[in-house]
Amino acid sequence: SDIGSQKDRVVTEEEWLQKWETGNTGFHKEQGHPLFQKYLDVLLNGRSGLRLFFPLCGKAVEMKWLADMGHSVVGVEVSEQALKEFFAEHNLPYCEEPVPEIAGAKKLQSTSGNISLYCCSIYDLSSLIVGKFDGVWDRGALVAVNPRDRQRYVSLMITLMEKKSSYLLVTVSYDPNKHKGPPFYVPESEIKRLFG
Ligand code: SAH
Repeated sequence: SDIGSQKDRVVTEEEWLQKWETGNTGFHKEQGHPLFQKYLDVLLNGRSGLRLFFPLCGKAVEMKWLADMGHSVVGVEVSEQALKEFFAEHNLPYCEEPVPEIAGAKKLQSTSGNISLYCCSIYDLSSLIVGKFDGVWDRGALVAVNPRDRQRYVSLMITLMEKKSSYLLVTVSYDPNKHKGPPFYVPESEIKRLFG
């Protein structure tokens, strides 16, 4: 597939933390993503009380919306600042605890218990730690993963899905020779190859 010069580009965790520190977070959508509204019914498929996963969650407002609908939400994000801003901006009380299985990781959980956000790298997670999910909202996640890590990311996501789960994926389409990313260009042929 033609992803131009992007396949070797690496954005480090340190660089992501810096983006949050300097407010270079143009990817955050205060009003949520329009495709979330459009395809919410496909994600839920009439089901209630779901366990939903937000990989590379940032402070996505859709996490609050789904929790308010009675679902339980789990996210993972390297930036603790992002997670703290999420709880603060929604006036949600939360508590913090270490994650015994992952050195240095923290879990920030809303006091009501239905939003659990892991502060660590997604590559540290496994279904033994977070369980399996009925649905995934992948926006700014696969496209934010370094191209060399894509297969590892997708293989992990597959292990986190229940048999009948749904996966909403948002990608972006553009000429990868004109922008270095992220978000990276992930052609549909590659998505099919990655997910199998
Ligand atoms: N999905 C969110 C954020 C997209 S930006 C939204 O829709 O707004 C990508 C996010 O992934 C950033 O907040 C970055 O800090 C985080 N991130 C990057 N690499 C990560 C990793 N390996 N594990 C967990 N989070 C990561």
